[in-house]
Amino acid sequence: MEELSHYVDGKMTAGTSGRFADVMNPATGEVQAKVPLATVDEVNAAVARAAEAQKGWGATNPQRRARVMMKFGQLINEHMDELAELVAREHGKTIPDAKGDVQRGLEVIEVCMGAPHLLKGEFTDAGGPGIDLQSLRQPLGVVAGITPFNFPAMIPLWKMGPALAAGNAMILKPSERVPSTALRLAELITEAGLPEGVLQVVNGDKEAVDALLDNETIQAVGFVGSTPIAQYIYARATANGKRAQCFGGAKNHMIVMPDADLDKAADALVGAAFGAAGERCMAISVAVPVGKETADALVERMKPRIDALKVGPYTAGDDVDYGPVITQAAKDRINGLVESGVEQGADLVADGRNFELQGYENGYFVGPSMFDNVTPDMEIYKEEIFGPVLCQVRTENYEEALKLVMDNEYGNGTAIYTADGDTARDFAHRVNVGMVGINFPIPVPLSYHTFGGWKKSSFGDLNQYGPDAFRFYTRTKTVTSRWFSGIKEGGEFNFKAMD
Ligand code: NAD
Repeated sequence: MEELSHYVDGKMTAGTSGRFADVMNPATGEVQAKVPLATVDEVNAAVARAAEAQKGWGATNPQRRARVMMKFGQLINEHMDELAELVAREHGKTIPDAKGDVQRGLEVIEVCMGAPHLLKGEFTDAGGPGIDLQSLRQPLGVVAGITPFNFPAMIPLWKMGPALAAGNAMILKPSERVPSTALRLAELITEAGLPEGVLQVVNGDKEAVDALLDNETIQAVGFVGSTPIAQYIYARATANGKRAQCFGGAKNHMIVMPDADLDKAADALVGAAFGAAGERCMAISVAVPVGKETADALVERMKPRIDALKVGPYTAGDDVDYGPVITQAAKDRINGLVESGVEQGADLVADGRNFELQGYENGYFVGPSMFDNVTPDMEIYKEEIFGPVLCQVRTENYEEALKLVMDNEYGNGTAIYTADGDTARDFAHRVNVGMVGINFPIPVPLSYHTFGGWKKSSFGDLNQYGPDAFRFYTRTKTVTSRWFSGIKEGGEFNFKAMD
């Protein structure tokens, strides 16, 4: 049985707690490795070492830090197949999907190559006679990144890229279900030239997370995961005086207008709802057709597309549409929610319960389900299912559809399919959701924009990656300076007027 480590001081370091979590193979239900769960002392020691290492790294000029990012990006590219395999092995997603996971993280590293530009401050020349003002962006010190299971490469890269490029040291606490990719990325960034100790990967559970939240040296916490944990981490981190941005769960709706190209909408919906087994925070889990005809036509188009989905392990080849969910508990919960939908009166038009894959009976595979005639009071509508289950809520008109999206407690992503520019524009302007797609089902912004939801999908300020991340991981210092030669040339300086 493989025993994984932490990554401390530039090398793999065995855990000392004696506590471990099982890392499963979701396709077979077998334990494939054990990951150590750090103690408070192990966390605190890693933080102390990171604080030492940060002094030199923070003083390194941004262009040199950018060069480390360049080399890191190159190494990620060279190791793409290996990283995708690591992702797929622990998470269960298909290889093309796993490559997408690595690729979307790599794109954030590419933006971090522009750190010198992104960290440039502001300058006011001659704000008064002989007086200049400059605003500097300085690193915070040691920061923490706490990441979920569903993107084992992308989200750790979203966290470490901007934080490190801005001159911080980081303690990364990846999901204990998928720790290997983050560990390998730590090795690669060290090979790229990151000094030892600047990135420490500490594996663990609540004990390690709480130790990070209570450690006085940690200046900021970037979290991604479920909403209850995001709320908890935000509250505890900020109560301890830390800067925090905590991104939570989602329930993303796609409105389908009567004038939409329904074949294109159905193609988009099947990928957005069932891709990655629905385990994406930007998955579409609610279809909202406007009008009876649209709703009937959408079901008619969705049914054969759902029936054609191929579910299987990542090893079965690239024509597999999606793999297993992450744990047996997740599988049971999803099947239980589908059951509740039936009991509460929704129409199950595609039934993924009792799905079994020959040869993988102990794997966590869940068949695709679609419900029609779902109402907002049902559990399947209220809960983030995080599985291959699509709910259809019928609406009479655009205003009713918009209100449904607006009234939902989550606000991560949403989409509209329509041929009408006015409706699309109205939707984009009025909807209270952070990321909006127009004839685009999963509107994850490119890496030089920023990613973030509204309402219960995000707690704290500023978004992830892009320019916002550089703001989050730096603090501004404004220096006002006066040189008297300027005053001599400009004549007598009126000190009184400046007070
Ligand atoms: P999770 O909240 O269970 O775990 C996330 C992290 O928090 C992990 O590192 C875990 O070890 C830690 N953690 C778990 N319980 C904790 C506790 N009680 N105290 C302290 N730390 C704890 O989330 P998950 O199941 O790994 O990921 C799926 C969730 O993440 C979904 O809700 C999904 O929507 C969300 N997600 C959100 C975004 C976004 O950007 N908004 C992106 C990806 C995933």
